[in-house]
Amino acid sequence: MDRPCRTATLIVLARLCLASLALAQQPDPGLRLLTELVNANGASGFEGPVRDILRREWQGLLQDVRADGMGNLLGTLPGPGGSPKVLLMAHMDEVGFLVRYIDERGFVYMNNVGGYIDQSVLTQRFTITTPQGPVVGYTGMKSGHIVSADERNRLVPLQDMFLDIGARSREEAEKLGVRPGLPVTYRTELEPLNGTGRYLARAWDDRIGLAAITEALRQVRSHPNTIQVAATVQEENGLRGAAVVYPSTNPDIVINLEIGIATDFPLLTSPKLAQEALGKGPALFVFDGSMIPNNKFVDWIVKVARESNIPIQFESVSGYGEDGSILQRSAQGIPAINLGVPTRYAHSQSGVIDRADYDNTVKLLVQMLQKLSAAEVRSIREF
Ligand SMILES: [Zn+2]
Repeated sequence: MDRPCRTATLIVLARLCLASLALAQQPDPGLRLLTELVNANGASGFEGPVRDILRREWQGLLQDVRADGMGNLLGTLPGPGGSPKVLLMAHMDEVGFLVRYIDERGFVYMNNVGGYIDQSVLTQRFTITTPQGPVVGYTGMKSGHIVSADERNRLVPLQDMFLDIGARSREEAEKLGVRPGLPVTYRTELEPLNGTGRYLARAWDDRIGLAAITEALRQVRSHPNTIQVAATVQEENGLRGAAVVYPSTNPDIVINLEIGIATDFPLLTSPKLAQEALGKGPALFVFDGSMIPNNKFVDWIVKVARESNIPIQFESVSGYGEDGSILQRSAQGIPAINLGVPTRYAHSQSGVIDRADYDNTVKLLVQMLQKLSAAEVRSIREF
């Protein structure tokens, strides 16, 4: 290792130490876990950094923490002998991009992994995660000084967008470690919003689901069931990781944790489009584009929430799919439900959540786990 390289390494190490020290000093362990999870880079197919955090967190909470051949992380919290198996599931990947092509001038083009409105991708900072470390890029666009009148309202399609990474040539880009297939994620970190109890961050979808599961595992006391847990890969790319979860977990009933689509902001106020608002509790999905949930399970959750004084809201949205639907259609069919933490601006550079909704989601999940006995599961499964 040469000298400049050693100095750079020392600086990086010092920064890492300071960052982890700052995390460790954060007085709120719930916020600490959320921060670590949403700041991790994990586009579909590149979920490693998220898996590492969960493996560490689950080590003391679950037995038999293991990854399958696709990269899904699994674990078990055994209950009484012969008790029903409840599967908790959430996905590790975030909506992101993969490098498609580097042109001869060193500009980097990308394919999206997950659904975007193209308009939201321009003029943003990104990180390309390379084997040599992170590479910073920016989705540039024509300056207002030179854009023509009719171009002003025209959308630039994603296929034409490029990342400016500072390189002058393809060779220079390759020297930085960039190659086709590498993951690209928005370059933002969690920020609490001005003491309001609301947070702004990138990958709520679906790190908040994983955080809620982890927190519930920490809080749950005597549960009359065996809890299976799956953190899945490649959800944003067609629910692919969930497709292999059934044989590893054999669940009797499935609870999928996700984001909900909050629409309580000035651009979208019509309840005809969606109904969720921040601060009104976890969203219980009664319909989405991939699944009609088990309705006895829906009613049972409404009852549990009411008994425990936890606010909930219904969500019904057609342009939305989730992993629970894959498990619902596994084996001979399994009752499944999707719960979401309401999130504004999903599938864009950042989203906003309300901490109270997150805490209430954890509370509801804990109540459900403590009450899902063999008799309850049998009655939900009966047709
Ligand atoms: Zn999701």
